[in-house]
Amino acid sequence: MDHCAQPSLLPIEEALARICNQLNPVQGTETIDLHHALDRVLAFPISAPINVPAGDNSAMDGYAVRVQDCTETLTVIGQALAGHPFSEEIGAGQSVRIMTGALVPAGADTVVMQENVQRHGDQLTITHLPEAGENIRRAGEDITLGSEVIAAGQRLSALDIGLLASLGLAQATVVRRLRVAILTTGDELLPAGAAPEAGKIYDSNRPLLAALLTRLPVEVMDLGVITDNLTALRSAFITAMQWADVVISTGGVSVGDADYTKDVLAELGEIDFWKIAMKPGKPFAFGRLGQGWFFGLPGNPVSTAVTYHQLVVPGLRHLAGETISVQQTLTAIAGQPLKKQPGRTDFQRGVLSNNNGVNTVMSAGLQSSGVLSAMAQANCYIRLEAERGSVAAGESVCVIPFDEFIR
Ligand code: AMP
Ligand code: MG
Repeated sequence: MDHCAQPSLLPIEEALARICNQLNPVQGTETIDLHHALDRVLAFPISAPINVPAGDNSAMDGYAVRVQDCTETLTVIGQALAGHPFSEEIGAGQSVRIMTGALVPAGADTVVMQENVQRHGDQLTITHLPEAGENIRRAGEDITLGSEVIAAGQRLSALDIGLLASLGLAQATVVRRLRVAILTTGDELLPAGAAPEAGKIYDSNRPLLAALLTRLPVEVMDLGVITDNLTALRSAFITAMQWADVVISTGGVSVGDADYTKDVLAELGEIDFWKIAMKPGKPFAFGRLGQGWFFGLPGNPVSTAVTYHQLVVPGLRHLAGETISVQQTLTAIAGQPLKKQPGRTDFQRGVLSNNNGVNTVMSAGLQSSGVLSAMAQANCYIRLEAERGSVAAGESVCVIPFDEFIR
């Protein structure tokens, strides 16, 4: 039997390429305080307006000297503290008491650490001769005036914010936030907090998506649970598309119950319904909705989470102008057998640990796409190639540690 013969299934890499090729990054920008810039995407490259450090300064508490004088007894003629430079030039036979971070006075070329001197009054003897230039942090050695510090398209980390502040910058011009509308579909769905009802289940996807979206530079409109009904769906999609750059719905994209969603989306947009060669998450919809975009995720919570993470997150980051780096993967040893049918790329949920330097991964529990409890225990995917069958304990597997976009 040819296990891989499922020609109607779209490989996940191809789905992702189709999504990113169509989404052109949004254009608007805003200039905001660094305090609010965490995780925002930088709109323009930033070049250093100053040298960092701005001037040569001491890396140690000690004495600023001329290296050629160090065999003589020196006279201490003053002090330089961080923020309080010594303003005169030092001459032959002279030195200046200097503290870490203080500017090196003119004339000095070396700092001797205080552990290597003996001082009596203003007389200084050096007990361990320094090398020329020792213990001086040079102007511009961290960042050189005019050099590019952060490229456009970078999502600003806390470290980036510290770096920009070190240049004296208090604001950054970033890409505007994306507007994302979310809704879940299904007659069976109850909002969390409602009294239980026979035959109904709680809507986990909307709180899940709303929480995950806080990790991205987006504003969210939550349209609630929409019943499986043509009029209700149409009106929800119209409300969403009038505001949103991206509408994300869950449920109703698989064959049996997709009809209303499909009808409404065909009327309002141009949506492709894909069967992606991934597990979980086979049914998936993507396309244009009004001026914006639409992602239709499968309803099972694990399928929602995995397709959101693997397909929607890269799409949203790309749309938000971010330059995305490749997803980090590791190789690990399967600590137990893992069941798999060839044909689709599996994103099994796993628990990765390091045992005496060896990455080892175990299944996080039941792998059914409705079982969110196992995914909540997991810290990684075990990504099993489409053509691969079951894995024996001890085989090498590809692991994708969970990043901030799925935790
Ligand atoms: P669907 O994709 O609409 O066929 O739904 C597939 C499965 O996921 C069904 O068992 C649904 O009850 C379940 N499901 C759909 N939406 C949600 C949701 N928002 N929260 C939890 N389970 C859901
Ligand atoms: Mg449904």
